[in-house]
Amino acid sequence: MIELVGTCIRCNKNVYCTDGFLNGITLGGGRILCFSCKENDPLIDILEKNDKK
Ligand SMILES: [Zn+2]
Repeated sequence: MIELVGTCIRCNKNVYCTDGFLNGITLGGGRILCFSCKENDPLIDILEKNDKK
């Protein structure tokens, strides 16, 4: 089963949930980042940490 969850906040590609596995990470506030953007941009780790506070 493939379900469209939303679009990546950086590249605007569609991010899907396949068999219960999200092909990206959620950053809070309904924002989603695909795995390729997360791997290519270490700055997003800072954003992710800020959202946990
Ligand atoms: Zn992306």
